[in-house]
Amino acid sequence: MTTAPPTFDTPSHALTTDLPAAQQPSWPDRTALDEVVSTLGSCPPLVFAGECDELRDRMAQASIGEAFVLQGGDCAETFQHATADNIRDRIKTVLQMSAVLTYGAGMPVVKMGRMAGQFAKPRSKDTETRDGVTLPAYRGDMVNDFEFTAESREPDPKRLLRGYHTSASTLNLVRAFTQGGFADLRMVHDWNVGFVSNAANRRYEGLAREISKALRFMAACGVDFDAMTATEFWSAHEALLLDYERPMTRVDSRTGDLYDTSGHFLWVGERTRQLDHAHLEFVSRIRNPIGMKVSDKADPEELLRVIDLLDPQREPGRLTFITRMGAGKIREALPPIIEKVRDSGATVTWICDPMHGNTFESASGFKTRDFEDVVDEVRGFFEVHRSLGTVPGGLHIELTGNDVTECLGGAERILDEDLNKRYESVCDPRLNHRQSLELAFLTAEMLAEG
Ligand code: PEP
Ligand code: MN
Repeated sequence: MTTAPPTFDTPSHALTTDLPAAQQPSWPDRTALDEVVSTLGSCPPLVFAGECDELRDRMAQASIGEAFVLQGGDCAETFQHATADNIRDRIKTVLQMSAVLTYGAGMPVVKMGRMAGQFAKPRSKDTETRDGVTLPAYRGDMVNDFEFTAESREPDPKRLLRGYHTSASTLNLVRAFTQGGFADLRMVHDWNVGFVSNAANRRYEGLAREISKALRFMAACGVDFDAMTATEFWSAHEALLLDYERPMTRVDSRTGDLYDTSGHFLWVGERTRQLDHAHLEFVSRIRNPIGMKVSDKADPEELLRVIDLLDPQREPGRLTFITRMGAGKIREALPPIIEKVRDSGATVTWICDPMHGNTFESASGFKTRDFEDVVDEVRGFFEVHRSLGTVPGGLHIELTGNDVTECLGGAERILDEDLNKRYESVCDPRLNHRQSLELAFLTAEMLAEG
């Protein structure tokens, strides 16, 4: 990654609008919020404009089938779990999945974490009731605490600053791991070390042996591996809290353009993508590559207006639609949307989120997803794109490097009665390490078929 220009001005003109913004916390203390917003405005950027421009180029490659995007990480990061081991294991998981995809399908993978900023959550209800007690819903560690007490659930703007600092230390570790030699392809075996042994790991080990053999062959032929010691790894999160994203926005001194320096790639969620609301207006003003979630309920005509707003120049890599339809709906709901967008001459990158359309409550009361549904949605995504001649550009996955029991199924056959063994997510259920690798092997086959 290249470094950025030397100056990072805070925009002189306010980024605020009168447009309504959904899913924002009701901060109890306005003065405290203003102080935090002003502090954030003078904090150093977490990412640089030049990096965001490079990522836009990578997303453009994915839009034409010359690369495949892998976005993965927690549904909701938490301050408590932003530990070195957890961060390392998530990076390792994404690196392993990328190796599987690259080796299996011969495709460069654009590696991106739902990481270093994924601390705010939209909620379907403003409140949560337990045993007759009703409190504000948990909205992510940047807003309030998961603990179910009135004090913990009160939104606290100081958490925005803690979110900034936790993002900075997470990103520091991401950069150290991926620039400092750990992501070197010659470390392909080491990424597997430390995970509980299982069939998916063993299959990975076989693939790692083949990769190592190929690398030794290339080394013997005189190939210079210095270029492989570092890998690109980008940060991404939902641009939900405007009181965080706006003050993190800076002017790029090279061009005068605005960049949200809280992360490389920002997406707008399903619940905040109203055309006449503040979130789309905000992302229309920044130059970062932008994503938007698209459910089966999306109106194709409305998506064209979104494209006009966010990508008026039809710039490849600028706009990504992250479709999240549900396994049972994708084959019906996705084609009319893709056709409309394709026929308009737009150049969006299509990514499949096979998680958010497949969430349900299990008989034992856990919010879960079935691995079979996740795989089936990915399969449907490939089928639809292949039948329309469009490009399946990537995957967006909620995952962890840990051995959790949050999603059902997979080869280890996690059952409803297993969910309580190690359910750690404070929001949506994630694929565990093994399920993530299994999904990568299956996706590599689908990708290779094309
Ligand atoms: C999410 O990505 O965690 C999320 C809330 O997704 P969506 O906006 O698609 O529901
Ligand atoms: Mn989620």
